Amino acid sequence: MITNCSAGVSAFTCNAYLVTGERTVLVDAGANYDVVSAVREHVADLDAVVLTHTHPDHVENVPALREAFGVETWGFDPEREHVDHAIADGASVTLGDHAYDALHTPGHKDDHLVFLSRAAGVGFVGDLVFAGGSFGRTDLEEGDAGALVESIERLDAALDGAGIGTLHAGHGPEIDDPRDGVAASLRAARFAR
Ligand SMILES: [Zn+2]
Repeated sequence: MITNCSAGVSAFTCNAYLVTGERTVLVDAGANYDVVSAVREHVADLDAVVLTHTHPDHVENVPALREAFGVETWGFDPEREHVDHAIADGASVTLGDHAYDALHTPGHKDDHLVFLSRAAGVGFVGDLVFAGGSFGRTDLEEGDAGALVESIERLDAALDGAGIGTLHAGHGPEIDDPRDGVAASLRAARFAR
């Protein structure tokens, strides 16, 4: 089961997805609200925090989660603040009851990852693409519009034949028609480059 702990929160935060099951994981920590209480509405403990990238709106709740649950974090680059353990490009990561493939997808930020599970039919795409054919901004530090287009192309190729029905984005609603939605984001990102 996947629950967005940031739903209804008006503070500046990313979506923080609680994935329950064999390994209960929070995908992104969020910022500027009491995510610990939000997690505790659903589960007593957390096994891991997995980060799509380390922008402040995705990681600022990490210290509170560490203190409450004694939990460690996984992300692309353990040299970054708030990242304890590395997830390499192509690695398999268990979220809830399913294995997800990690894809390194820079462009919005150098350490950006997306996670896709054929078994679950679900993906987490962080700030790479959003619903409505939108895509991650590249005007911040480490932003690279060309790399972003290549990363969306990689996501588009990975979705081909994967049977993924839902992509959970770092902001806004989920993408319910991933093939069409990512294709629209790709067109828009190419146009903006
Ligand atoms: Zn971001």
